[in-house]
Amino acid sequence: MIKTLTCIECPCGCEIKVTIENAKIISVAGNGCLRGKNYAEAEVVSPKRVVTSTVRAETGEMIPVKTDKPVRKDAVSEVMNRINKVTCKLPVFVGDVLVENICDDADLVVTGNF
Ligand code: SF4
Repeated sequence: MIKTLTCIECPCGCEIKVTIENAKIISVAGNGCLRGKNYAEAEVVSPKRVVTSTVRAETGEMIPVKTDKPVRKDAVSEVMNRINKVTCKLPVFVGDVLVENICDDADLVVTGNF
């Protein structure tokens, strides 16, 4: 089986073909660099995503947040449910941790100054 992916590691968007046989990766082709090969292999075995969203401050402002590391793609909706229950007090600054270990050792961090 050949799985075709578009690499999202940089704006080049290389089309990468991963050949899989008996649940093992046989070859990776089309990547423009090693980063793309690593991305494609991880995407086939265990896809992960950084989750970005907003959290409502107690005074009503919407504060942009993200996970500081990618989390399992199949856990994204669970992470979103947790984020939707979070509120914060101002002020907050870039990098402040709102929720430690929200999933897969990733913290939920603020991405703006408010
Ligand atoms: S394979 Fe490398 S060059 Fe191609 S999109 Fe991915 S990171 Fe960019």
